[in-house]
Amino acid sequence: MVHPKIAEVIEYDVCTACGACVSSCPAGAITMGKKAEIRDPDNLDLYSFGAAPNVCEDCLTCSRICPVIDGYVEDEFANVKRFFGAKSDIQGQDGGVTTAIVRSLFNKGEIDCVASISRNDKWETEVEVFTNGDDFLRAKGTKYTYDSVLSSLREPFKKYDKIAIVGVPCQAHGARLISENVNDKIVLILGLLCMESFYHDTFTEKIIPEIMGLKAEDVVKFDFGKGKFWAYTRDGEEHSVKIAEVAPHARNPCHHCCDYTAVSADISIGSVGTPDGWNSVMIRTDVGEKYFDLVKDEFEIIEDPKPGMDLIQKLATMKHNNNSGHYLEVCEKFSFNGCGIR
Ligand SMILES: Cc1cc2nc3c(=O)[nH]c(=O)nc-3n(C[C@H](O)[C@H](O)[C@H](O)COP(=O)(O)OP(=O)(O)OC[C@H]3O[C@@H](n4cnc5c(N)ncnc54)[C@H](O)[C@@H]3O)c2cc1C
Ligand code: SF4
Ligand code: SF4
Ligand code: SF4
Repeated sequence: MVHPKIAEVIEYDVCTACGACVSSCPAGAITMGKKAEIRDPDNLDLYSFGAAPNVCEDCLTCSRICPVIDGYVEDEFANVKRFFGAKSDIQGQDGGVTTAIVRSLFNKGEIDCVASISRNDKWETEVEVFTNGDDFLRAKGTKYTYDSVLSSLREPFKKYDKIAIVGVPCQAHGARLISENVNDKIVLILGLLCMESFYHDTFTEKIIPEIMGLKAEDVVKFDFGKGKFWAYTRDGEEHSVKIAEVAPHARNPCHHCCDYTAVSADISIGSVGTPDGWNSVMIRTDVGEKYFDLVKDEFEIIEDPKPGMDLIQKLATMKHNNNSGHYLEVCEKFSFNGCGIR
């Protein structure tokens, strides 16, 4: 068994698959498929995590670190200390700021490892724990599919003391709850703005071939912008469909998610609100400020980018308006109290 609260998050299909419970459960009672799962008693590989299958030690850890149980904040911008546009010399998804911050912190010895996601030419992805800045260059670029970044932290928690996370808001949220409740080895959380993500099979079997009429291996970049979902192919062509054609295929937990800008991150990074090729950057914590100050010479900065914060706020409001009703409906069904939007 697993803790009953997690069992309900799984049962109502609102588990974001962040992986916080998987890496933090001392009994190894939880594994990860498309969402968190109760450990398969027949899988002997998993016995190393705990003495026996189906044993929940009732330590309550998972119920303290699950973003769905923790709930959301109404005002995503209350903790923003500084907002600006930035770009680096790295050809990333947008301004390459995410990759450049991490690379520079590795070079300065400020972090031991970072967990994030890489891909191959077929857009098959993998969660990786990188231990140097040059390797981390392989992770650049946005994958609109979902992988459970925090599930990969079991071993790093044993081996490293200064762990960085790059992930979407639900992963930033899980990472923050781990660092507040389980251990303090996560020293920096970089959160990516996120409206939705897709399951791999939906993305590679429906969206790319059926909706966009493309082959995955021909595509070098996907992007949302200007009301459309874009694919850029090796032959230099641009292809697009309306966002309304792909958005309904997002994962179910994404339709219940009320965090657009990664409220729990130390630094939130997106593209919206700045010109093409730039990143919108929100510094939210003293830790975020400290680390950004260490690497700021790497970047060109615009203090007041256009279209700016107004557009980001508009999209955050849109996400809340679309999703808060779904989320609160599920909270009503849970047998426990405490979750919700504050
Ligand atoms: C699913 C998803 C939806 C997004 N939606 C929006 C949006 O609506 N508006 C907006 O402004 N920005 C959005 N972003 C963020 C945007 O696409 C860029 O990631 C961000 O601007 C950083 O750009 P960069 O040039 O610094 O990235 P890069 O320097 O290229 O680095 C990208 C980093 O993102 C990590 N990454 C890539 N895909 C994933 C993933 N699926 N899960 C976790 N980590 C990943 C990589 O490991 C890499 O470290 C989204 C990102 C994702 C992953
Ligand atoms: S309560 Fe503790 S032992 Fe039980 S599933 Fe949750 S983290 Fe694991
Ligand atoms: S902690 Fe994350 S992976 Fe675990 S049940 Fe909650 S949302 Fe799912
Ligand atoms: S919308 Fe983004 S942050 Fe929210 S659950 Fe989906 S992937 Fe996670």
